[in-house]
Amino acid sequence: MARYTGAVCRLCRREGQKLFLKGERCYTDKCAVTRRAYAPGQHGQGRKKTSEYGVQLRAKQMTRRYYGVLENQFHHYYEMAEKMPGKTGDALLALLEKRLDNVVYRLGWASSRAEARQLVLHGHFTVNGRRVDIPSFLVKEGDVVAIAEKSRSNDKIKAVLEANASRPVVKWLELNREAMEAKVIAQPQREDIDLAVEETLIVELYSK
Ligand code: SF4
Repeated sequence: MARYTGAVCRLCRREGQKLFLKGERCYTDKCAVTRRAYAPGQHGQGRKKTSEYGVQLRAKQMTRRYYGVLENQFHHYYEMAEKMPGKTGDALLALLEKRLDNVVYRLGWASSRAEARQLVLHGHFTVNGRRVDIPSFLVKEGDVVAIAEKSRSNDKIKAVLEANASRPVVKWLELNREAMEAKVIAQPQREDIDLAVEETLIVELYSK
């Protein structure tokens, strides 16, 4: 599937907040949002007024980019969320959180969601003992996600684990660092998601 391959820091600057797309660099003062806190391009420091549609569009784009999901797939998640009980915005974010690539990132088994996606595609993880190489695979409560046995001695995996060993893990995932596995113990909640977006704006955009 086609992916965005341009300069990812531009995406953060466009949205005006860190989307953590580049791994370790995002946590340093080299972060482009810290250094240049204005939108990219010739008019980045100019026009500020945004229409209602523009605000809703930015909320959707920001969320889509945060999770590294393309437009069609994002809209598909919205349609799924619409059919679920509770608030559509909350259900949408919960679905995105439960993607396997996001779970791998949340567990500190990758430095960014893009890296997590690559590692999943290369078959480094299992769900309930079976290898899963689909980044969009949705985990559910009770699932056990693990680093595949043969990947545990992989240099790249070892380096990533070491680099992210102190990253806090969201509370809906129970990580056993020694066993290199984690259990999904609850549904992701809105307060677990560190993205400053008003998800109701996305619902308003798609409800038009
Ligand atoms: Fe670049 Fe990461 Fe900063 Fe975003 S958060 S601007 S990807 S360094």
